[in-house]
Amino acid sequence: HGFAQYGLSLPILEALDMLGYHHPTAIQQEVIPLVLAGKNVVARSQTGTGKTAAFAVPLCEMAVWEENSPRALVLEPSRELAVQVSRELFQIGRKKRLKVPAVFGGFPIDKQMQTLKQKSHIVVGTPGRVMDLVRRGSLQLSGITHLVIDEADLMLDMGFLEEVGEIISLLPENRKILLFSATLEKQVQTLIDNYAADAVFVAQ
Ligand code: AMP
Repeated sequence: HGFAQYGLSLPILEALDMLGYHHPTAIQQEVIPLVLAGKNVVARSQTGTGKTAAFAVPLCEMAVWEENSPRALVLEPSRELAVQVSRELFQIGRKKRLKVPAVFGGFPIDKQMQTLKQKSHIVVGTPGRVMDLVRRGSLQLSGITHLVIDEADLMLDMGFLEEVGEIISLLPENRKILLFSATLEKQVQTLIDNYAADAVFVAQ
């Protein structure tokens, strides 16, 4: 099994087998060990490279079922991506029975607040709705060890810079940032310089 080299637990390896993921893609080979080693990571990569599983595999591996508040938060620029990525995290974490709710705007917030009253291990959401849920006390960021900023260029193009900065400022000091972006335009680079200056850079 190509993923066994990372020392992943059986439930994760079994889930990867069920998905037909037998060998890590190039970006997965670089990113998985870095995340497991606790690094900040910046990856320049397009969709289609397997970048979702590159962060989903180590985040699911590190998740602990017994914990009630999330350890990882994944930011996505759109509802569609939030749903898609939460589904992939769920699939990879299914043998650990991980809870991976998706939260996004344009949908009744009280339903999402209800969902967040239950156990959740990894929360995936759009920045505006995530901040809304934090302000309402529904989403706890105090236990977050990893923040994923996925599609960072799209996210900033859509005007989410302020919310992303606000979310980062509310995380514990020792949080790790995993940033994925197709391009490293100026705004993205500024975000990296401000919050993850020591990140290991991975290019596809
Ligand atoms: P992504 O770049 O995350 O959008 O993934 C692109 C496609 O590759 C998705 O359909 C994944 O299900 C698939 N995929 C991701 N990792 C692997 C892998 N290691 N082996 C085979 N397919 C994969």
